[in-house]
Amino acid sequence: MTGLTVRAPAKVNLHLGVGAPRDDGFHPLVTVYQAVGLYDDLTAREADDWQVGATVSDWIDPAVVPLDGDNIVDRAADLLAAHHGIERSGELHIAKEIPVSGGMAGGSADAAAALVALDRLWGAGTSDEDLLALAARLGSDVPFALLGGTALGTGRGELVAPVADRGTWWWVVVPSAVGLSTPEVYRHFDKMFPDAPSAPVPADALLEAIASGDPWALADALHNDLEAPAIDLRPELGRLIETGEAAGALRGMVTGSGPTCVFLCGSADHARSLAAEMSGAGNAVVLAANGPVAGAHLVSYA
Ligand code: ATP
Repeated sequence: MTGLTVRAPAKVNLHLGVGAPRDDGFHPLVTVYQAVGLYDDLTAREADDWQVGATVSDWIDPAVVPLDGDNIVDRAADLLAAHHGIERSGELHIAKEIPVSGGMAGGSADAAAALVALDRLWGAGTSDEDLLALAARLGSDVPFALLGGTALGTGRGELVAPVADRGTWWWVVVPSAVGLSTPEVYRHFDKMFPDAPSAPVPADALLEAIASGDPWALADALHNDLEAPAIDLRPELGRLIETGEAAGALRGMVTGSGPTCVFLCGSADHARSLAAEMSGAGNAVVLAANGPVAGAHLVSYA
């Protein structure tokens, strides 16, 4: 085998309960992730040295994807190589469709894809348990990007447990031209909510809504504690959500730390017509995606 392509999905947080910062500085989370059909594809090929390249969808600024040691796939490769006591090698190419600094965990998706792809390329045979542990060291959202589907995340988000989800949920996704830094949004949360309880809001209502399979019940139960700080930093997001709801979304919200906004729809047709209406209303980029979808997985041999 000389190469392979692994596909990894973006996530939306259907529920994101955030508690007061822990002693280690991380915020405790109770979150329900859903992997949605917006993907980065990572191709890894055998090579004597190490190289990382990227191409991006035409609406993504290529300058915001680092290609030097700051790319998270570099750290993923280092961790996996160190775990097996081998030298890293390979030519990696990221084809990016997930917004950067958009609150959809695009970097985490690439990190998960790199772990899966390099494990195969190097014939390392890493156990699932070890892959999840390495993923957790790379970032709070990386274990979920491996798992995919719909899952409950606790700890700082890295402790993931699959949630039975028989529904197909339809989303219209509206990224912003300029990203928001996740640490900045958390700092703003701390400023706005200095008395946040140490235990995050539980996800019971959301989990019941998922079990019901009813999009209206899900619309009612969606919850994001980072929405208020994201909107305070970017008031136009509040207006975007109002516009989407006025155009017929069952519910609009900021996903994760934003600034991407997602709009829940009742069906694929509803998502297509809402996307068309929101594009017509002057939003430069409007996408439609369904969830849940699989986590990082092999799609082809390159
Ligand atoms: P999250 O939802 O997990 O907070 P995000 O989607 O808001 O993440 P990302 O796109 O995952 O944000 O990461 C943004 C930051 O990470 C940027 O500063 C970017 O330069 C850096 N970065 C490093 N590697 C990558 C990568 N492979 N893809 C995107 N951003 C990357």
